[in-house]
Amino acid sequence: MVHVGIGYDVHQLVAGRKLVLGGVEIPHPKGLDGHSDADALMHAICDAILGALGEEDIGHFFPNTDPRWKGVPSRVFLEEAARQVLLRSGRIVNVDATVIAQAPKIYPHLAGMKKCIADALGVRECQIGIKATTNELMGFIGREEGIAAMAVASVDLPF
Ligand code: MG
Repeated sequence: MVHVGIGYDVHQLVAGRKLVLGGVEIPHPKGLDGHSDADALMHAICDAILGALGEEDIGHFFPNTDPRWKGVPSRVFLEEAARQVLLRSGRIVNVDATVIAQAPKIYPHLAGMKKCIADALGVRECQIGIKATTNELMGFIGREEGIAAMAVASVDLPF
């Protein structure tokens, strides 16, 4: 039975942080702020997979009050989401995601992101879709105050 899940995440862009999206470090004067590396794309994908399992969100598995997760690469969270799928004898069918960022340009990094995400989830790159769009200069994303990501995941489960 194929189950689907949805995920959304947003982090603030601040000076003095590295910008990491989809596991790729992107040169930019500002980076995403957060307890971990604040990789909004990986977090959204993580929540989509956990949602397909009927599980609680990423914050339940990795509380941002726990010092163990301070500064960790978000790949760790995706690996855990994939482990949760395997624990249920499930299989990730596909993931599709959109990054919403006014700047920097995301497109040149999409291939690298796909590879990182596929590796972390133990799936093939053709099972991972990532697109990017701007917010047409509107709102907090348009003002480059933050970057958001949304994702869906489908997971084949034996129940
Ligand atoms: Mg997050």
